[in-house]
Amino acid sequence: MRTAIVTGGGRGIGAAISRRLASDGYRILLTYCNSSKPAEMVVDEIRDSGIDSVAVNCDVTDPREVALLATHPWVIAGVEVLVINHGRYDRVDAQELDFEHLRRTMSTNFEGAFLVWDTIKNSLTDDARICVIGSQLGTRGSPQGADYSASKAALAVWARSLAQSFGTSRKRINIVAPGFVDTDILAGDSAEKRAARIQEVPLKRIGTPDDIAGTVSFLVSEDSKYITGTVIHVNGGLYLP
Ligand code: NDP
Repeated sequence: MRTAIVTGGGRGIGAAISRRLASDGYRILLTYCNSSKPAEMVVDEIRDSGIDSVAVNCDVTDPREVALLATHPWVIAGVEVLVINHGRYDRVDAQELDFEHLRRTMSTNFEGAFLVWDTIKNSLTDDARICVIGSQLGTRGSPQGADYSASKAALAVWARSLAQSFGTSRKRINIVAPGFVDTDILAGDSAEKRAARIQEVPLKRIGTPDDIAGTVSFLVSEDSKYITGTVIHVNGGLYLP
């Protein structure tokens, strides 16, 4: 059976990706950091649909925890799809950002992604597909997220570099850059803020986790076999680079 790994796959966008790839026929190894309950619920749901799934506790900022992923039997057997989805966004004013905070964000969003890749890379199949969840802010920047935006920009350029390094191998890596998506990241919005966000989007709605999962499903499928190293913006027209 084909295996897909989804980091942060128990909640928000990651949970939608886990469910979607399971329905595409992959057994799902999803990781979580703090939220074990939602992760176990996603695993149960996938298993109920007849597809195998497992949740692994893994704080991506801890190299020892990430290294343990390599010992999982499904990883040893070979990984077809790796989705690097985990991320944190703390909304700190760019002028107030301190070094500790910057390090925390980079350590989770960028270095954590690198550690996962570095741990899994020897288990990837020759035609493995890797998807990295970036952000529109990785191109745009944000006055409330200089650290977050920088981490997402780093992720995109890193992924592009990998795409160019794969040479004759058939591996592919792409970046999905969401706009506003309805998850806990937006949960603190006031009603006014939410309405203002909707007005900003040409398609006049906030994106759903399934909007992102559908794009990931395409990017790991045969239908996208000539696409690599690209950033696909999924944002309802909010930002058109
Ligand atoms: P959530 O806050 O709902 O989920 C974040 C996920 O990241 C959780 O599964 C969380 O795991 C995991 N995570 C956080 N820190 C760590 C860590 N140290 N180690 C391992 N896992 C960790 O956010 P979303 O679902 O919205 O975000 C998913 C991705 O999409 C992120 O990369 C985010 O930056 C990106 N994105 C989201 C947008 C949005 O509007 N929602 C817009 C643009 C990009 P746990 O809960 O177990 O701690």
